[in-house]
Amino acid sequence: MQLLNPLFGSTTKSLEVLNVIEGVKPVTRQGFYDHELRKVKLFCEKNGLFITQSDFKVSLSENNGYSNKGFILKNGNGMTFAYISKDFDKAEETKKHEANHNHYLMGRSLGYPRCCCQSFKENEPLESKGKNTYESPLVKKFNGKKYPFFTNIFLRHMDCCLLSHFPCDLNCKESIAIGKASLNVLKKYDLKTAMEVVAQLKGNHVIHNRKVHFVLK
Ligand SMILES: [Zn+2]
Repeated sequence: MQLLNPLFGSTTKSLEVLNVIEGVKPVTRQGFYDHELRKVKLFCEKNGLFITQSDFKVSLSENNGYSNKGFILKNGNGMTFAYISKDFDKAEETKKHEANHNHYLMGRSLGYPRCCCQSFKENEPLESKGKNTYESPLVKKFNGKKYPFFTNIFLRHMDCCLLSHFPCDLNCKESIAIGKASLNVLKKYDLKTAMEVVAQLKGNHVIHNRKVHFVLK
């Protein structure tokens, strides 16, 4: 991972690409600036991955390197979305769904669970007008019980997350399975980082002023 992070910019981005290489995910979609894209393309070529890119660029609404929200630019210095896959058609299909603003089918192309794609579609009209974090629908369901750390998406701003989608529920079985598979890939490539990620995701967290306890489950 130490080798991949400078290339992809973060642990979560690097992990996504490894998940595609290891067959955990069919496609990954990531934003890159032009100077990054050249190196990423070279990496894909060497590793037997196809890469196709969006016909538009986005400008992130926050300038601290992490944001959920972007604005479409006609030209300029924005990020281009790259769709990376072992299968050229799947990368192209994901690109097409994004160009058509079809969130549900794009999520499905990226290998996200049906239930989570449906939940995203339902919450998108409201979330896209706000911070676009999709945390509120999850926080509303907190009931004081313990949740599996595999679905803890609340530390993404710290580059610490095993999922690249918003789970429909913290107990979503398919999301937990993806989180577990993703952790196994991380362990295979960088055990030390994997253990650090687990330590951070687990335990007591205060999210939107509410206490939540994440455990191994
Ligand atoms: Zn789900």
